[in-house]
Amino acid sequence: MLNGKTALVTGSTSGIGLGIAQALARQGANIVLNGFGDVDGPRAQVLASGEHAGVRVAYHGADMSRPAEIADMLQYSSAQFGRVDILVNNAGIQHVASVQDFPPEKWDAIIAINLTSAFHTTRLALPGMLAAGWGRIINVASVHGLVGSAQKSAYVAAKHGIVGLTKVTALETAPTGVTCNAICPGWVLTPLVQKQVDAKAAEHGLSNEEAIKLLLGEKEPSMQFTTPEELGELAVFFCSPAGNNVRGVAWNMDGAWAAQ
Ligand code: NAD
Repeated sequence: MLNGKTALVTGSTSGIGLGIAQALARQGANIVLNGFGDVDGPRAQVLASGEHAGVRVAYHGADMSRPAEIADMLQYSSAQFGRVDILVNNAGIQHVASVQDFPPEKWDAIIAINLTSAFHTTRLALPGMLAAGWGRIINVASVHGLVGSAQKSAYVAAKHGIVGLTKVTALETAPTGVTCNAICPGWVLTPLVQKQVDAKAAEHGLSNEEAIKLLLGEKEPSMQFTTPEELGELAVFFCSPAGNNVRGVAWNMDGAWAAQ
């Protein structure tokens, strides 16, 4: 379905971004990976997912808190593949502390990486998409773009912010072939969440399994994690012809978290 298209997925060396990159590659899209840590492993996984379609995979290590590096990544993506057709704003970090104890530098980093980076990628990718008459912008927000949780002021502020950016981008592109939507996962067992499981286990003297039950039980009525594969399939839906007029939604996959 996405043969000949190019997807730039930020924060795709791990977790949800990697799952979305694999799902888009399975549909034939060339992929630009981004993120820290091991690159060879994720690159091999994405290449394997798109092997049947001859998918090509590139990588740019832009730090998403640095606008100049983001601009360089957009230029690099166009140079590699001609254009960015699908932009997935996924890179994100978390820090857990009460407002009065929240380190200001952590606040700044979370707002920069989880919110401001999406403004920069979007403003830089949009002209090419509009000129081509087709584009998909998918913002990986969170159920925390819809509801709050204690101890997560910067994250909740950034995620509500990206849901707002999604709506405005969708309004401005509404008469065009470019759509913009947000995905709002509940708990997904990635390194970002494993840290929070570890903190619970240490705080209450629990095993990993007990800490996972406690974490899910506090928020997610389904008592099951959403998976990167499921989120990848939702991204594929947004890119499909059926998604042509899906615009400005914040679609939760959260085990009924936000239904409470
Ligand atoms: P993860 O830690 O597994 O992956 C994060 C990715 O972002 C990695 O590739 C990392 O290298 C990259 N990254 C971090 N800082 C970066 C920076 N400054 N520049 C470039 N890349 C950077 O986390 P994840 O759980 O897969 O999270 C991905 C997105 O999903 C985040 O936006 C997160 O807020 C969101 N999310 C996660 C969950 C969850 O339960 N895991 C739930 C809702 C939303």
